[in-house]
Parts: sequence; structure tokens; C-alpha cells
Amino acid sequence: MRPNVFSRNQAPSPIAVFALAACFGIALSSPVAASQSSLPATSAEDRALAKAIFKELIEINTTDTPLGNVTTATTAMQKRFQDAGFAAEDVHLLGPDARKMNLVVRIKAVGTPAEKPVVFLCHIDVVEALRADWSTDPFQFVEKDGYYYGRGTQDMKDSDAALVATFLRLHREGYKPKRDLILALTADEEGGKFNGADWLVKEHRDLVDAAYVINPDSGGVELDHGRAVVADVEATEKVYSDFQVTAVDRGGHSSIPRPDNAIYELTTALNKLAAYSFPFEMNEVTRTYFKNLAGQEAGQEAADMHAILGTPPDLAAAARLSAEPSFNSNFRTTCVATRLSGGHANNALPQTAQANVNCRIFPGHSPEEIRQVLVGVFGDDKLTVKYVSDAGEVSNTAPERKAMAPPAPIKEVFEPLTRLTQAIWPGTPVTPVMENGASDSIYFAQAGIPCYGYSAIALERDDDRAHGQDERLPVDSYWKSLDFFYSFAKALGGE
Ligand SMILES: [Zn+2]
Repeated sequence: MRPNVFSRNQAPSPIAVFALAACFGIALSSPVAASQSSLPATSAEDRALAKAIFKELIEINTTDTPLGNVTTATTAMQKRFQDAGFAAEDVHLLGPDARKMNLVVRIKAVGTPAEKPVVFLCHIDVVEALRADWSTDPFQFVEKDGYYYGRGTQDMKDSDAALVATFLRLHREGYKPKRDLILALTADEEGGKFNGADWLVKEHRDLVDAAYVINPDSGGVELDHGRAVVADVEATEKVYSDFQVTAVDRGGHSSIPRPDNAIYELTTALNKLAAYSFPFEMNEVTRTYFKNLAGQEAGQEAADMHAILGTPPDLAAAARLSAEPSFNSNFRTTCVATRLSGGHANNALPQTAQANVNCRIFPGHSPEEIRQVLVGVFGDDKLTVKYVSDAGEVSNTAPERKAMAPPAPIKEVFEPLTRLTQAIWPGTPVTPVMENGASDSIYFAQAGIPCYGYSAIALERDDDRAHGQDERLPVDSYWKSLDFFYSFAKALGGE
């Protein structure tokens, strides 16, 4: 996933940063006054290495297709860590499939650390790209007009490469953190049956157990004509679930219609869903977000945002704000019909009608709980409502597991993140958001490990090309993310 679609139309103004800082008790030294990045800039040699790694990754096809192979990329990165002198016990290549091997690399703390590790979670697979659709070869790393072009330049081989380069640099400099720093390069975030994040958490928790996860697959700095407008940090996300709704009937000749009809039965149910709204909810992240936003809006909208923060929340205000679809989606679980099929001949009564209903579940609820809500909304026990897994397997019931309701964003992460972001982009507000979409963070969140999505990648708002054609990244954005992650890793690891 990338980019942050939630805040795309709803960027907080710089006021938010002070609200956020106040929330966490962070002292900000007049960020607007700073004019130059105060971070140590990455040297020309380290930039050259980071660029070479980026090029190598772009030119290895890691799509979930016969031409793609994640293991080729993770093996190439494994070699870089081995050549740099990382101990064998700190570099693990592992996975459930020969083509989908994950790489887990660790920079060990000195002695016995008091704190649990920090994981940097980076998927290394990319979405398919067709040469015919692009003006350059998507699997060639092309530098042109101040941009790097290639599949994965935005999502997310930029951050993969920046983190590999950062870990290599920290190791070379002899950096000894106070807690372990872990980099996980993983398979099948975009598709495929072997999701590496899910598999690592379930099968090798010891290798990726952490106090929290930094996932650069979401969050980042939004630019408007080169000016940084806001930095979004994904602090929680909704859970993706598909449900298959089926009506069956005995069918018959269409010249003799009867009241029972699979298509009518299904569409009646779907119309009930269209009219249904899940209950309004907030969590620590969305409360912080709307508190920040309320500070810069005016009139009824600002009043409504304040009103939903009350105890109890003002549901009339929530209903007015819900007219904006991105707010509505941030306020509740949503379920929507996305596909439809039915019937077998123009002149026959349908024997089957089927729809896919896609749900984005508010953290704190399980897919099974939502399946049962759907059954209740449809109110038709002749319909079946089955769960469809990410791998496409259909089952009568859905997982009971809930994504944890997120804790309040922690100062330990947000203080350095805000400070370093503002050293690079002075005055830019930083705000936590709940993504309406989904990333691999969910597997860690479900295991009780908080996740924060932040890439430190600055992109123009209208230049989102992730998953699209001619994907590209400004060269300058790459260098800045490199500066950021070096200082950020050291801040989290302890200077
Ligand atoms: Zn992604």
C-alpha cells in the first residue's frame, strides 16, 4: 500500500503540529524558523551505495508472476549484508516457498538490552507492470529529469533500499544500539499466497518480536508544488475482509416466473446493506487526528469535529461529517457490494446469484463479528454469507481474531519522528492517521505489536504513481529519506 489516501483531501494546516506536540508533551523549538536541514547529510559515497542498491532492487522483478522472484532480491540483499561482515546468526533468509523467501537482518544491542527490538518492515514485492504501458522499461532503473523511474520506485523499493543502505552504514560505523534493530524484507504484500509478514509473525515470532514496528509502506510527506504540507504517520488501519453472499433457487423456465428468484432475493439483501450504516466509533488515533483537524477548520465543520470528541459523542454531528466519504470511512466499519454474478441463460430463472461484499473493519472487531452483522442486516436465512480469504479460499465462518484497538501514538516514536521530519521539512505538521486501506502492519497489530507507518518520502499530491504506469520518485526525495532513516534508526536505537 501507498500512499496515504486518507489525508489526501484533508490536509491539516501547520497548526496541527502544535496540537500534536501538546498531546505528547513534546517541546518544539520554533520549527518554522529553521530554514536548513540540521541532519547530518549522507555522504557522496553512501549516496552512491544507496543508489546502487535501489537500482539492483528495481531491476530484479519481484512481481507475483512467472517472471517474478522475491528470493532473487532477498538473496542479493543477503549477500550485501554477508559481504559487509554481518554475523551469519544475524542474517536469516527464510520462507514457506522457494520463490518467496524473506530476509531478516539484525543489528544487535550491546549486552542484554532493557528494551525490546524495533522492526523496520519492508515488503520487497511489487505490482505487475507491462512494458507496453510504460514509456521506460519498468524493470530498468532509469534516471531522468530529476526522477528515478521503475516499478517500485514509490512502492516501496525506495524505502527497502534506503533501509538496507542505512543498516549497512550503521554496521560499518560500528554503531551499537541499546536495543536490537531489525530489518525485515518480506514477500507477497501486494498479492500472492505467501505473505511474508504474516508468516514471520506466526512461524518465527522470535526473529521479529518487537516493541513496535516502523512500516515505511504508508505515511510520508505530502508536497504541494514543492512545499511540504503535512507529514502523515499511519498509527492504525482498518482490516480488509471479503464476503461471498449467495442466493440459490430451483430455477425453471423464464416464461413462468414465480415469486422466488435468486436474483431478486440477492438484490433485496444488497439494498438492505446499502441502507445500513455501522455504528460510529473512534479510537485514540482518530481522536487525535480529528482534534488536530478541528483546530484549523471553521464554522459548522469545526463545531461538529469538537462535538464528536465529547462524551458521549454528538451523533448528529457525526452524521453531518459522514457526508464526506473519507470521514465516514474513518468513523466506522464499512461494507460495500463490489462484484455481482448470477443466472445461467437469458430464458431461464436464475438458480444462483452471488455478490462479493468488501468490508473495511474498524480495529477492535473480528471478521466473524462483521459476518454475523451482515447475516442480521440481510435477515434472510436462505442466503449464505461466507468468508473469502486473501488467498481466495471460501469458508463458512470468518476469523475470530480482532485487530487491536490502537494505543495512543507513543512519544518515543513521535518525538524523534517529528523532530527529524521538521529538521528536513521545517514547519511541516506531523499527524497520526488511521488508514482506511490495509498494509502488512495488520499482522503485527493483530499480534499485539503497535505499528507506525512512515516513509519520510516526500511526493507531490498529484504524482501518486504507486501500482500505476511510469512510477517514479524525485531523486531529492530519496536522499532526504536516506538522511531521515539514518538519524531515525539511531534515535530509536539509542545514540
Ligand atoms: Zn506497498
